[in-house]
Amino acid sequence: MKTFNIPIIYRSPLISAIKERRKQQDRMKKDFLPTMLDFGPVQVLLARHFGFCYGVENAIEISFRALDENPGKRIFLLSEMIHNPHVNQDLRQRGIRFIMDTAGKQLIPWDTFRPDDIIIIPAFGTTLEIEEQLQARGVTPLRYNTTCPFVERVWNKAEAIGKKDYTVIVHGKPGHEETRATFSHSRAHAPTVVVRNLKEAQQLTAFIRGTEPPGRFYEIFKGQYSNGFDVEKDLQRVGVVNQTTMLATETQSIADHIKEVMTEVYGLSPANAFDRFADTRDTLCYATNDNQSAILGMLRENADLAIVVGGYNSSNTSHLVELCEQQLPTYFISSEEKMLSRHEILHWNYHTQQELHSSGFLPEKEPLRIMLTSGASCPDALVEGVLRKLLAFYGLEDKIDEMVKHYTRQNEGTAK
Ligand code: SF4
Repeated sequence: MKTFNIPIIYRSPLISAIKERRKQQDRMKKDFLPTMLDFGPVQVLLARHFGFCYGVENAIEISFRALDENPGKRIFLLSEMIHNPHVNQDLRQRGIRFIMDTAGKQLIPWDTFRPDDIIIIPAFGTTLEIEEQLQARGVTPLRYNTTCPFVERVWNKAEAIGKKDYTVIVHGKPGHEETRATFSHSRAHAPTVVVRNLKEAQQLTAFIRGTEPPGRFYEIFKGQYSNGFDVEKDLQRVGVVNQTTMLATETQSIADHIKEVMTEVYGLSPANAFDRFADTRDTLCYATNDNQSAILGMLRENADLAIVVGGYNSSNTSHLVELCEQQLPTYFISSEEKMLSRHEILHWNYHTQQELHSSGFLPEKEPLRIMLTSGASCPDALVEGVLRKLLAFYGLEDKIDEMVKHYTRQNEGTAK
């Protein structure tokens, strides 16, 4: 896979060395068990896959290039480039301004833009309507376009099935930048409706079965369907695509459920199921699949708690938390600063969208075993920061440098 030029401040020598070691040992990515880092009284299980994905590295490289190539110009990002506050803050400090917030609220009015402004499209992509807004002001929006190719793949899939007269069902969070962009691209080619979760998919299939009056569709899915959506006509042939970072198991259940209902309602057989249900497979990206599989691999081990590092508004990170918390106490933090002491921690509850203050997050036992991972938009340097602070609580911080040397030696030995 292509490598990117990422500022060194986002890298971690230890984590780079560990990832390189695991890559050398498992080039086909078949082993999802975590890496055990044994520091004596503290043992850390580091997930097999985590941290910056292809799309995030691509977006960071292009954004920093836009800064280098355009000294003196006004440079804007349509919204947060990725869902990581540290990376976004770095870009702000280098002079980039954000046109919208994550929810799509306009922070800088369109009529203030000039043709020589530089506008960067974030990794989530953007809507056709916003591209038109920029073009109308003479700005070339695609010059610094960091839309992830895996997001574009979803748009292409939606377009392809739309052209075959299927309606597109998008499994995603309706307010998320990526889902808003996917909805916009999809509805240009096909009737489109967004379902947030399995419950909404089940509400939708009630209309396929005809057990709900059609008028209810427009109330339940308000703001989530394309203009002119005809619930009686447009649910006869459907296909499912997703926001790339959804929970894989939920995406699968939604596709299975809708296919089952279509099969039942239209008396389909395996031979003709695709007449009514498009074969999209799932459109999650490789990083979502790898990171979620790595969590499942890690959860095969025992531990006392899990720490997941990432931006609080990061969809892919919240799904890693969701998986971990089914099995053990899990703390979702944005950086090591949230670990206030050996006893106190500030952590995000994504269900209630609140930051909580908890005590006694590190149980008094030896060895203490901690699972550690991060989302696809989280720099490895932040994960190393968390690791260093955890070890410092136990007077073990010097062990990190020994660990770096150990992995570097191993990697060099393999390379010879
Ligand atoms: S999580 Fe997947 S779709 Fe999103 S930026 Fe990363 S590689 Fe692209």
